[in-house]
Amino acid sequence: MSEPLHVVCPHCHAANRVPAERLADGGTSHEDAKCGKCKTRLFTGEPVELDASGFDKHIGRSDLPVVVDFWAPWCGPCRMMAPAFAQAARSLEPRYRLVKVNTEEEQQLAARFGIRSIPTLAIFKGGREIARQAGAMDAASQERWVKAHG
Ligand SMILES: [Zn+2]
Repeated sequence: MSEPLHVVCPHCHAANRVPAERLADGGTSHEDAKCGKCKTRLFTGEPVELDASGFDKHIGRSDLPVVVDFWAPWCGPCRMMAPAFAQAARSLEPRYRLVKVNTEEEQQLAARFGIRSIPTLAIFKGGREIARQAGAMDAASQERWVKAHG
């Protein structure tokens, strides 16, 4: 038996312990995993929109690498990349958690991480940033990039 992993709920941001077997590649049992606190699904196949407090909970508590899309509504390339990021979320879950941060609403968060251009993708693991890439990427490139670092 392997150690359970902490998976942060995309809805209430509570940390849940999930057996590693349920997160196996190619398996579907993660789709039924529910949050012990709010009873909603831990994996929705969609990026999670986070504000600063939700962001800190995911980065601080998740055992899954967290892939962050720093974006803004006024940024054309960001809006164009959004469907590709959603597609990447469907194929990268449950090994990774994909989240989005609106840098217009969360300016302090963007400043804290020195986000100078958007879109910027960053990967956080164990509470710290391990990779960053500025500029739009298609879904296949995002998946390759994430798997190469995380
Ligand atoms: Zn929950």
